[in-house]
Amino acid sequence: TPRTRIPGPALIEELREWQRALRAQFPIITAHPEPAYLDSAATAQKPQAVLDLVHTYLTTTNANAGRGIYTWANRTTTLVEQARDRVKRFLDDPAPERSAVHFTSGTTEGLRTIARDWLPGLLADGDEIVVPVADHEANIAPWLEAQRQLARQGVHIHVRPMPYQQASGDYDHAALTESAGPRTRFVAATHVHHVYGGNMNIHRIRRAVGPDAVICLDAAQSVGHLPVSVADLDVDFVVFSGHKAMALPGTGAVWARQSRGPEFMPGGWSGTPNTVGIASLATALDWLDAAGTDRIEQWTVALAARLTDGLRHLDAYEILGCRTSLAADSSVQQRQGVVTFRHRAIDSGDLGFILFSHGFMVRSDQHCQGGAGERTGSVRVSLHVYNTAEEIDRLLAVLATLG
Ligand code: PLP
Repeated sequence: TPRTRIPGPALIEELREWQRALRAQFPIITAHPEPAYLDSAATAQKPQAVLDLVHTYLTTTNANAGRGIYTWANRTTTLVEQARDRVKRFLDDPAPERSAVHFTSGTTEGLRTIARDWLPGLLADGDEIVVPVADHEANIAPWLEAQRQLARQGVHIHVRPMPYQQASGDYDHAALTESAGPRTRFVAATHVHHVYGGNMNIHRIRRAVGPDAVICLDAAQSVGHLPVSVADLDVDFVVFSGHKAMALPGTGAVWARQSRGPEFMPGGWSGTPNTVGIASLATALDWLDAAGTDRIEQWTVALAARLTDGLRHLDAYEILGCRTSLAADSSVQQRQGVVTFRHRAIDSGDLGFILFSHGFMVRSDQHCQGGAGERTGSVRVSLHVYNTAEEIDRLLAVLATLG
């Protein structure tokens, strides 16, 4: 069964009022309804609550954290510590006393930090790591670099590639099960694919590699878009970008379970953290929890299905990744709020420009896909809670004129 259910017409109707009230909380969207922002996989817009927090913090509290004995410094230290707890609660951490949260500038820095500072301590000569072949470059390059670094020290690590299957919209779990063995110590996986939109089956990865392997989840496209529970997923690292979850640019976090392998980031404080960004992340997570990530998922999944249903009637377009439809078909993986396609005759870069001239901001290139990813280029529409069915219908009407 798919892990993402398409909501029926009654639920979609029910969500409309809820969505309208939330959309109204994004000043950049209400001030500029056109062009429509359809690039939330790159970064998300910020609700008023986050803007207010930034203003209040910088006009009442701004100081460095982890040092200083005066009120502003103490309050800043407390805000950062509270943000760590906030991340743990947001990720449904069942044992917060046995996990750590480290703040970063985004997913790329988080994954790199794990690969550079933590992974070498886990691995011994002859161990294996599993690396996806068609994920975001940020979830491929650091692991291969770690392998090269270790090889220079005489520690030889085998990389097992984890293939992706277009038809199922998921990793090729059969291939993983076949290649995984007792020396498989670490798996890098992505929760929601940033081009194909599939919600990967992380439970199947755990079953394939067993309870002792470390699973590191690139949750850049899932945190803020759907409920992400470390208790349910049984992973050891969750890495995400705060800015894609409605916090300020230059924010992100690594959640690390401490029970396996070397301790992550021992020593606690060092350097000056991005205090205002970290505080904005806590507020953004408050906002997302209050909005309900389950409803955000239903809304964006329904919009994505509306778009793919429309595109399927337009012969000029090829949709990348798994099938999805408002006429839910339980035999296929469903897609999150990311729809990527190409026109059979128009170059994707040109199509991006054409769409911008018609009032849509989309991504058009190769989407930082690494390894065996697409090289032809495509247009990506990525959605968040502020997007509407009317925007999708307008987009489809323009795409139809280009057929
Ligand atoms: N991983 C995935 C799946 C992504 O979609 C992205 C961003 O697009 C990244 C990693 C990198 O995130 P950041 O640019 O915040 O470092």
